[in-house]
Amino acid sequence: MTAAQPSTSFQVDPIEFIDLKAQQKRIRHKIDARIQTVLNHGAYIMGPEVAELEHALSRFCGAQHTISCSNGTDALGMVLMAQNVGVGDAVFVPSFTFAATAEVVAWEGATPVFIDSDPMTFNMCPKSLRQGIARAMELGLTPKAVISVDLFGLPADYDALLPVCEEYNLWLLDDAAQGFGAKYKGRSLGTFGLATTTSFFPAKPLGCYGDGGAIFTDCDDLAQRLKSIRVHGQGDDKYDNKRIGINGRFDTLQAAVLLEKLAIFQEEIEARNRIAKTYNDALSAYVTVPVILDDCVSTWAQYTVVLPKHVKRDQVMSDLKQMGIPTAVYYPRPLHQQGAYAEYPTASQHLPVCEELSQHVLSLPMHPYVTAEQQEYIIQGVRSALS
Ligand SMILES: *Cc1c(COP(=O)(O)O)cnc(C)c1O
Repeated sequence: MTAAQPSTSFQVDPIEFIDLKAQQKRIRHKIDARIQTVLNHGAYIMGPEVAELEHALSRFCGAQHTISCSNGTDALGMVLMAQNVGVGDAVFVPSFTFAATAEVVAWEGATPVFIDSDPMTFNMCPKSLRQGIARAMELGLTPKAVISVDLFGLPADYDALLPVCEEYNLWLLDDAAQGFGAKYKGRSLGTFGLATTTSFFPAKPLGCYGDGGAIFTDCDDLAQRLKSIRVHGQGDDKYDNKRIGINGRFDTLQAAVLLEKLAIFQEEIEARNRIAKTYNDALSAYVTVPVILDDCVSTWAQYTVVLPKHVKRDQVMSDLKQMGIPTAVYYPRPLHQQGAYAEYPTASQHLPVCEELSQHVLSLPMHPYVTAEQQEYIIQGVRSALS
């Protein structure tokens, strides 16, 4: 079967899955100037742009403290280190996420317990979380913490998850690598639970030009511990080490780049939401389109639909590719079904929702600079690939 060309009468510019060039073109002169400033002052490690960015990020999300760091994975790991998570502790993580969410738990010798997804939002299911806690206790583990993920940029359901944490005396770490900039019931991510982390990997909604990440918290003590861990567990002076830490610093040059990207981030989130609405309106008769909880704003790190069960995903992807429409699968396998994580416990024998989702999800091109013509072309392409 070969795909028919969608019936568009206009020419479209080549479509990228995530287009970083369009944004750069818009602010290149400002980024260049910022980089020149760093080259002139030469403070490459923990220079003034790092502190400036941390303040700007705190203002942006409303958290008391922002601790920038090396990447989004280290950000998660640093919080676990600061909280002394270790052998015998259970940390509850969604299975339908990027590996980093669970990996950091294993780093600390603790046990990741995999939780199923909510079928509507794809985020951690509170009912499965309760089952996971029971399972951990059966196994003689100490339930310690929950790592929620705001998958594809949509906030997890904090009003449902936080009461479960409270009931079992667990603290919550929000892995907002995809969702930083999003809002849950009017409140920005960054202030839910004990701490929130994000990633500045280039393709994330707020990305720099290399690796980077940040941790947000309202807890003064935790912020102090994290700042120490970021520089090898440093104490009062450079050669006084209070605890085991890492080299977890964020580069000054990356902070300089990110300051200019942060300045247009809110506008970009709004653009992403307009595009997502256009996709949703045009595609809801063909696929299961993403759901946004009431009073929530997604950052649309991915625009991910669920294909009808009878549809062959590989065929749809190759048909779309022929039309010049790139797509991707996030994620083709949940973590509990992967070699590295197969031995860790799951909330129930199967995690049916995420096992099913992984078979049928498909992510479409999404970034703030998808033109109206490209949106229309993508919509027609998806419709024709499905008919
Ligand atoms: C990207 C991502 C991370 C890791 O961020 P890095 O900066 O690449 O280390 C962690 N969790 C989730 C959910 C992610 O999407």
